[in-house]
Amino acid sequence: MTKEAQNILASLPSVDTLLKKIDPKFPHGAAKEAAQRTLKELRQEILAGTQQTVIDHKAVVTLVEKQLTEKQFSLRRVINGTGTVIHTNLGRSSLSPQVEEQVVATGFHYSNLEFDLNSGKRGSRYSHLVSIVKKLTGAEDVLVVNNNAAAVLLVLSTLVPEKEVLVSRGELVEIGGAFRIPDVITSSGGKIVEVGTTNKTHIADYEQALTEATGALLKVHTSNYRIIGFTETPALSELADLAHNHDLPLINDLGSGLLLDMRPFGLPYEPTVKEVLEQGCDIVTFSGDKLLGGPQAGIIVGKRAYIEKMKKNQLLRALRIDKMTLSALEATLALYLDEKEALQQVPTLQMIGLSQDECLSKAEQLAAMLQGISEVKVAIEKDDSKIGGGSYPEHLLPTYVVALSSDKFSADALQEKLRLGATPIISRVKEGANLLDLRTIAVEEFGLIQASLQTIFG
Ligand SMILES: *Cc1c(COP(=O)(O)O)cnc(C)c1O
Repeated sequence: MTKEAQNILASLPSVDTLLKKIDPKFPHGAAKEAAQRTLKELRQEILAGTQQTVIDHKAVVTLVEKQLTEKQFSLRRVINGTGTVIHTNLGRSSLSPQVEEQVVATGFHYSNLEFDLNSGKRGSRYSHLVSIVKKLTGAEDVLVVNNNAAAVLLVLSTLVPEKEVLVSRGELVEIGGAFRIPDVITSSGGKIVEVGTTNKTHIADYEQALTEATGALLKVHTSNYRIIGFTETPALSELADLAHNHDLPLINDLGSGLLLDMRPFGLPYEPTVKEVLEQGCDIVTFSGDKLLGGPQAGIIVGKRAYIEKMKKNQLLRALRIDKMTLSALEATLALYLDEKEALQQVPTLQMIGLSQDECLSKAEQLAAMLQGISEVKVAIEKDDSKIGGGSYPEHLLPTYVVALSSDKFSADALQEKLRLGATPIISRVKEGANLLDLRTIAVEEFGLIQASLQTIFG
């Protein structure tokens, strides 16, 4: 080690000295850890010869506070530049400011979560959604759990334990990580009976499979794939008649669960929750954070008698929803009482509804803000966004992106730098450029992107 390096090392403040100068608003434990980490990094730089001058203590304090502000937490906000609206890896749905207000009000204080304000007696956490869900879907009753996978599990293990569940071979789906319909049926204690073929299933196939041991008919939305060509599946109303003639429930795992008709967005027709209930489904399950645009949750709606049974299932306690999620879900559903409001205020719907022209004008605005940064080439290009979350898998939404490239960094290196900045920016690399899709980036985030690129290009 050189004499200079020794001197610079000796000039570094101690952790205790730093802790006295760090803004007391930061938690002590986190501040100590950040101070230790910063000093360790500085020592490494000094030994490697990349830090060759004495650093004053104030500058070290600034470095520690920067770490505390930007990197104190492992779970952080990111900017979604991928254009995939319901991005499961990025937390699926972002929520409306109106939802935030309600979650802060109820989630951060005492609430009437399980307390009936009218009677002054114990209440049920599930009661809060009954009236709004009835208005939006016509359902008699509702139950909410951790996610839709949990919803399906609870429904099956309540209604068909040790019984047979009839499912079309074309609907034995795997969704995302490890959610496989056949496995969920098995783990709920039910026994799967496959009916029909991959592409065609007729009502007679269900009829022939019915036995004394049948517990339910299950319909599963093939969210993340399509069978095209010669396909056939019975109408829901036919299935419902068959089920009801045998005193069995028709269960429908809808996956995304639309509350609105998405055709005005140019999307193909998909039945809404209300419509499938009207066609005779007894129990319908769907996710809170897919096209609904709310928090992670699994929503079960349908006939009261069945839902009452589920409320008595021990499993419900293990799958139960917490107060913050419940509050966010109720506030999101409230936006749906007015269709126009939902389209503007539910971020997922608002992003899906953006026209290509609107994406272009956002792209022009962002590009103009980045134009002045030296060494980065900024272009505006046409591209396609995806809905994601296993919804409308083959449907693309035309969009505009800001394409960033530079002679200084390769596309992959720039992608990493964007990802590792103060506010991580997740981009898509295509043909040597980092694409930022304006469909999933809010105008309020432009400043953060500008700041990040200014840091990267110094
Ligand atoms: C997404 C999906 C699920 C799982 O829902 P989560 O809310 O992610 O647990 C189950 N079934 C279908 C048909 C789906 O599309």
